[in-house]
Amino acid sequence: MQRGSDEIGGILLTETKETMKISRRRPPRFELIAGNVSLDFVNTLDDRHINPKELLETYLDLVRFGEDAGLLSSPQVDPLFERSYVEPDLAARALHQARELREAIHDVFWALINKRPAPPAALARLNADTQAAAGHMHLVPTKNGFEWRFDDFGDFDSLLWPIARAAADLLASDQLAYVRACSSKTCEWFFLDTSKNHHRRWCDMTRCGNRAKVQRFYVRKKSSGEL
Ligand SMILES: [Zn+2]
Repeated sequence: MQRGSDEIGGILLTETKETMKISRRRPPRFELIAGNVSLDFVNTLDDRHINPKELLETYLDLVRFGEDAGLLSSPQVDPLFERSYVEPDLAARALHQARELREAIHDVFWALINKRPAPPAALARLNADTQAAAGHMHLVPTKNGFEWRFDDFGDFDSLLWPIARAAADLLASDQLAYVRACSSKTCEWFFLDTSKNHHRRWCDMTRCGNRAKVQRFYVRKKSSGEL
């Protein structure tokens, strides 16, 4: 997909990952395994239920996540980086909002994964952020019809628009039944199970699947007296 010069500030919802890869300059920092940006975003609080590790420590981390996830291109990243040094308070507030949105998305999906109703406060927060995102979206004609695009990514919190929107779209889609948490109790990263039989258990086979396999092997050997 071609981007005209007047589109540098905006972003296409349907923009291909290939386009973003071309403009990438920094190596990726985040492991994006979820298949949906809102679930990848939840995973930025690592080992959440056992020993939480915050991967979004600074506003720059948030921008890096946006870049890795293909929400921002390099021309959009650099001004945000620079401005966050000039206006640190605003950047810190946006980071705080981002974490709050992340926890709201987590709480909603975690409840649903565990067959419980979505917590009203978390759903209200997600609704509010989705409505805010909608205020920055507009339809533009394309060759084959129309596309949704977001306004320029000039605001510190603009990165939250596509994330909130992705979470809302997922909740209202038939893909909702395929949202899972990794079976490793020390991990529990979220992902969208798009496997053929929808029996995927691990966030990533090399990250958690192999670890579990090795553990099962060890227990089996030990119980059979081989170890
Ligand atoms: Zn895992």
